[in-house]
Amino acid sequence: MYKYKEVSEGTYVLSLDNHVEICQALGEFCKEKEIYAGAVNGLGAICEATFRFLDPATKQYVDKTFSEQMEITNLTGNISQKPEDPFTPYLHIHITASRRDYSCVGGHLLSARVNGACELVVQDYQENAVLERYFDSGIGLNLYKF
Ligand code: FE
Repeated sequence: MYKYKEVSEGTYVLSLDNHVEICQALGEFCKEKEIYAGAVNGLGAICEATFRFLDPATKQYVDKTFSEQMEITNLTGNISQKPEDPFTPYLHIHITASRRDYSCVGGHLLSARVNGACELVVQDYQENAVLERYFDSGIGLNLYKF
C-alpha cells in the first residue's frame, strides 16, 4: 500500500502505491506507526476523488466526486484522535487538485485514488503530544479539545 523512509526522528517520507486510496493508505500507515498526533503534507496525481464542502447554514456536508486525472497541487492535513476511539488515527485532510485545463478544484478530502504517484511527508509529534477532538454541535465540526 505504501513504502516509507524515516528521514529524521518522527518524520517519514511516504510513497503510496499506484491505485491506492489516499485516506485508507495514510490511516494504515498511522496505525502501523501508532501516530495519533501529527501533520501531513504532500503532492501527487489522482484519477478519482470525492471532496466535501461543509454548508455552515445546514451543518451538512455536500460531497462531489471528480472522475478525471488531476495533479494534487497541495495536500495538507493533521492527525489526531477521538477519545471514544483512541486507536483509530483521526485524519483531517484538505486538498487542492489541478485539472487538464489547469483549473483547480478542492475541498475537505473524503477519498482520492492515486494514479501515478503520491508522495507524502508525515510528521509524528511523538512524546506525550495528545491531540483530542470533540464534536461541537453548534458548529457541526469535530474541533480540537484544548
Ligand atoms: Fe475539513
